[in-house]
Amino acid sequence: MLPESQKQIKLASRPHGKPESKDFQYEEISVPEPGDKEVLLKTIYLSVDPYMRGRMSNAKSYVEPFKVGEPLHGGVISKVVKSNSGLFKEGEFVIGMLPWQEYSLASEKEVRRVDPSIAPLSSYLGILGMTGLTAYFGLLDIGQPKKGETVVISGAAGAVGSAAGQIAKIQGAKVVGIAGSDEKVEYLINTLGFDKAINYKTCGNIRDALKEACPDGIDVYFENVGGEIGDAALSLLNKFARVPVCGAISAYNNTEPDIGNRVQGILIKSSALMKGFVVNDYADRFKEGASQLGKWLAEGKLTYEETITEGFENVPEAFLGLFNGNNLGKQLVKVSKIE
Ligand code: NDP
Repeated sequence: MLPESQKQIKLASRPHGKPESKDFQYEEISVPEPGDKEVLLKTIYLSVDPYMRGRMSNAKSYVEPFKVGEPLHGGVISKVVKSNSGLFKEGEFVIGMLPWQEYSLASEKEVRRVDPSIAPLSSYLGILGMTGLTAYFGLLDIGQPKKGETVVISGAAGAVGSAAGQIAKIQGAKVVGIAGSDEKVEYLINTLGFDKAINYKTCGNIRDALKEACPDGIDVYFENVGGEIGDAALSLLNKFARVPVCGAISAYNNTEPDIGNRVQGILIKSSALMKGFVVNDYADRFKEGASQLGKWLAEGKLTYEETITEGFENVPEAFLGLFNGNNLGKQLVKVSKIE
């Protein structure tokens, strides 16, 4: 029996600096009826991601800003609870870019089936989904780590970073992770098999700590955080180093321009390649990436962690926690039970 009403989360205001609870507004709305070739979906897992901070502002970017007064949306795993589509049956699970609601409508073209008998549902939003693919393509296509090279990963205990570091290990590289707590450092070394890890909050001078951890310099720097950590890593690049620029979370809440070291001299001296990317640049190769990630998981060469916050009422808190480092691995919210 479906309820008559449900909750949705709207963008109440554009944040200035770090987003706050007041920037999110819960609203009671009706549970809609699916039209022709539409499905009604019950949200199971909802993904909160750092890039959403960019969409909360109205600055021009590679994705449209969220609109004030309209629901936020992102990666969601849902169960089909009513179907007017020949393609989906009630009880099946799907993934799509869907609004932050307990129930939502989707046309049959907006969602894709996911199979919990192949992999846990949550993994389609993480290691087998957007964040795993980001690590896979950013590291292998741009970073191109070789056996014996030194790869440094910032944001190393997060969803993308933890996958990127393990993929670098699979390629035979020496991997140094940078993360924000002793627990994360311990996880990187003891669970993921990183060679070294640095707690950037307690290490003192990050450049000195990195220099000590990378006596042969840095061949690949997988950039997730930017800021002073990025400056320090770039200053230690070896000749022909590669720098996939995946993210710069340390600057997402800045209210002033992010001015740091200038990179031209470094790139010229080291003949390094520094290249920004978004995962969708690789959309035509997603099948290849997901299949290789799945194979490594099955072979036990790759593992992953998830931080799962329970309850739709805690979505903003889970999102805000990304900026405090509350998560280990992929941050998700479990909105309802799978059954
Ligand atoms: P994570 O799971 O890594 O979560 C964010 C982490 O960032 C936190 O856990 C925290 O860990 C760290 N962090 C937060 N603030 C700071 C800070 N000021 N300085 C240093 N570290 C900080 O998120 P994702 O794996 O989803 O994303 C990682 C990066 O990749 C982000 O920058 C994101 O925008 C980017 N990204 C880019 C994509 C693309 O297509 N280019 C796609 C997906 C993600 P800690 O405790 O270590 O501080």
